[in-house]
Amino acid sequence: MILLDGKKTSADIKEEIALEVAELIKNDKKTPHLAAVIVGDDGASLTYVNAKVKACERVGFESTLIRLPKETSEEELLNEIEILNIDNDIDGFIVQLPLPDHINEQKIIMAINPDKDVDGFHPTNVGKMALNLPTFISATPFGILELLDRYNIKTSGKNVVVIGRSHIVGSPMSILLSQKRKIGNATVTLAHSRTKNLPELTKQADIIIAAIGIPEFLKADMVKEDVVIVDVGITRVADASRRNGFRLVGDVAFNEVSKKASYITPVPGGVGPMTIAMLLKNTLMANKKND
Ligand code: NAD
Repeated sequence: MILLDGKKTSADIKEEIALEVAELIKNDKKTPHLAAVIVGDDGASLTYVNAKVKACERVGFESTLIRLPKETSEEELLNEIEILNIDNDIDGFIVQLPLPDHINEQKIIMAINPDKDVDGFHPTNVGKMALNLPTFISATPFGILELLDRYNIKTSGKNVVVIGRSHIVGSPMSILLSQKRKIGNATVTLAHSRTKNLPELTKQADIIIAAIGIPEFLKADMVKEDVVIVDVGITRVADASRRNGFRLVGDVAFNEVSKKASYITPVPGGVGPMTIAMLLKNTLMANKKND
């Protein structure tokens, strides 16, 4: 079994980006600048957004974190987005999800200038992605493609089962892997909560992408020998032995499934770090587009 080490791979990618940024600065080009907007004080969201800002700083990007109180109205947030849309210094920005219940997420995503939508959530960018046109691919599926590529995992003609149909992971993943592209050309099944006889499908799969959010959902008796496993799930499970009181658990029962797998991502240290690296890659792309 080979571990698909997202921590190391993302460090490699960040190093490559840092070199590109140094080159841009040397040539008097604009330094890439990512802004992140967060509304409210949800602990997990703050952790994610802080990690994104720190990653920007480490590769030499400029970063701006805009923290808004949880009472912020939809209109106030839309105003903030408009400011970022027209600010020439900002190459790309993200609005950390989820948003408080009184704000319509879709309306907010629709308001982001697609050229600055480095999360790749705007319908224009999702549409381009679905048509296999150049665009910002949302960071988690983009990171999975990159991880498979860097480990030379062949996807062409393989049977892939994606479990979970969210707009940010499962659905784009199923589209991308079925497209005619280097990491693509697979025969993809998209499974979800209404899928019948899931183990019958997963047992046929050469590659399984699990994006469900149920700890240790995928068990060893649901997979075949030598399967490639990408575990997207991250759930906080109470653990009194940890200082913070929880540990992160994936959608795959790692200890048993790793014994059958040829390749597998750990949780944490698999898909998670790749997501941040690809957000930086998208920001660099936005910077080049604006050049
Ligand atoms: P989601 O939470 O929006 O939806 C879960 C999906 O799982 C749904 O499509 C549902 O149909 C499917 N599902 C639920 N029960 C099922 C069952 N019994 N059988 C088959 N399918 C079932 O999905 P999401 O936002 O993609 O999140 C999934 C997990 O991935 C979560 O743990 C989330 O924290 C994690 N995640 C990780 C990253 C990362 O960077 N590593 C990024 C995004 C999400």
